Amino acid sequence: MVNKPEQEKDKAIIIETRRYGEADKIITLFTKRFGKIKAIVKKIRTQRHRYAATAEIGQIAEVFMLFYPKKNYLCRITNIKVIKPFFLLNPTVEHLMSLHYILSILSEGVPFNDPNPEIFDLLYLTIKKLYDAKKEDIRHIIRTYELSFINKLGILPSIEFCSKCWQPINSNAYLSFSLKNIVCDSCSRASDLKITSSFISLYKSIKQDCTDLKIDYTTDLTARLFFRHIFQSYTGKPMKILNVRKNLKIQNK
Ligand SMILES: [Zn+2]
Repeated sequence: MVNKPEQEKDKAIIIETRRYGEADKIITLFTKRFGKIKAIVKKIRTQRHRYAATAEIGQIAEVFMLFYPKKNYLCRITNIKVIKPFFLLNPTVEHLMSLHYILSILSEGVPFNDPNPEIFDLLYLTIKKLYDAKKEDIRHIIRTYELSFINKLGILPSIEFCSKCWQPINSNAYLSFSLKNIVCDSCSRASDLKITSSFISLYKSIKQDCTDLKIDYTTDLTARLFFRHIFQSYTGKPMKILNVRKNLKIQNK
C-alpha cells in the first residue's frame, strides 16, 4: 500500500539519455508539471520496447511515468509517445549544436523537481522553431531564448536603475563585468560593456514576452555577452555544453 506508485502523464522534452546497466536507460527530461526529473526506462534491449529507441534528446514527447513514494526510487517511464521527432527532418550540424546549447542552458539553469511551466513553454516553442529554422535564423532563435530564459528565471537585471548607486539611469548603461550587473555612466569602468540603444529596445521586447526577435550583428554580440555574464553569475560556474557526439548520431551524408 505504502509503496504503490502513482501513474502520471505529461508533456516532456528529453534532455539527456544514457545507458544504465545491461538493459536499462536513464533519461533526464523536462516536464511541464513536474519540472526536470530523472527517470529510468527498464529492460530496453531485452524487451525491444518501441518507445525506447525513440527517446532521443530534444524530442518533444508525451511520457507515461510511475512515481514511487520512496525518495530513493527513480521515477519509471512506462511509455513515450513522440509528438515531434527531430531526426526525421535530417537536421544540419548547426541545428544539432544549437539544440544542445539550448538544452545545456536548461540543464544548468533549472534544478531538479522544481516545475516551471513558463520555462517549459519557452523551451517547447524554441525547439519547435529550431526544427523548421533556416540556418541564418538560428542566431535569432538562440538569442531570444537566452534572454527570455533569464527573464523567466527572474534574473534579468533591471536597466532602469544602477545596481551600484541605485540612481535611475538616464543616459548610458553598462554591464559591469565585476558586478555582473548594470551600472550607470559614473559607476562604470573603462572595461565594462556599453549597453547599446538597440540592445535596450531588445531588452524591452523581452520584458514584454516577445518571442520573435530579429537581432543585428552588433546587438548580437552585446546580447551574447550580457546573457553569458548574467547566467554564469547565477549558476556560479562556467557553462558546460552537453556532449554532442555522445548523445547524437550525426549523419554525415
Ligand atoms: Zn551608478
